[in-house]
Amino acid sequence: MNKKLIAGNWKMNGSLAANDALLKVMLAGMGQPVADVAICAPAPYLAQLQLLLQGSAVDLGAQDVSAHEAGAYTGEVSAAMLKDFGCRYAIVGHSERRQYHGETDEVVATKAQRALSAGVTPIVCVGETLAQREAGETESVVKRQLAAVIHTVGHCITEIVVAYEPVWAIGTGKTATPEQAQAVHAVVRAQLAAATTHPERVQILYGGSMNAANAASLLSQPDIDGGLIGGASLKAEDFLKIIASCPQTA
Ligand code: PEP
Repeated sequence: MNKKLIAGNWKMNGSLAANDALLKVMLAGMGQPVADVAICAPAPYLAQLQLLLQGSAVDLGAQDVSAHEAGAYTGEVSAAMLKDFGCRYAIVGHSERRQYHGETDEVVATKAQRALSAGVTPIVCVGETLAQREAGETESVVKRQLAAVIHTVGHCITEIVVAYEPVWAIGTGKTATPEQAQAVHAVVRAQLAAATTHPERVQILYGGSMNAANAASLLSQPDIDGGLIGGASLKAEDFLKIIASCPQTA
């Protein structure tokens, strides 16, 4: 069994003062976590979190990365810049970026490749909308999104993290049942198995209204290797409870 990864996605929330207060409570209550833990913060706060997380058990992550290496791309943040600020992870292809910023499967795959090239682990988000689920397209959508990344990163595929995030469950309070989530995670694992001899090395996270109450049942599923947590990562107590819900691994 993989060590679990619990990654918080703060989205566009926070301030210098609020981040400081939240992290102080979180770190004080964390001890030695049973899981890998990361916080994916808004870009302007990466320097602040790099300092605050120094020496802690919590890794730093970004919420996006440029598809370009460097140059005339106003407003973009490169993977090398994220690395400079100590980022271990970068979320790529979050549904909010696919939906509001028109990111295609190909752009997401290029972003994953850029992150890997700079030594940053991409957390690649995949997931279907409600309309796609109701049309029976969940499997084909998720497979199509992941196939683009597999095609682009090739043999580096074991170095990515995948986050299955059904769009209808993000920020809605509607969570996939453990069985619904496990079924899609098994599809993802099988797709990885066709691309690498070590599909078990890839952590596959579930994201979508995971909270302190539902985390344990989701995290007990065989192919759910952790969670990508939005709203509940902004509340220290809830985030700590989710981390504590992770089963011990050897
Ligand atoms: C997310 O934004 O990745 C997410 C899973 O959000 P929430 O937990 O709030 O549904």
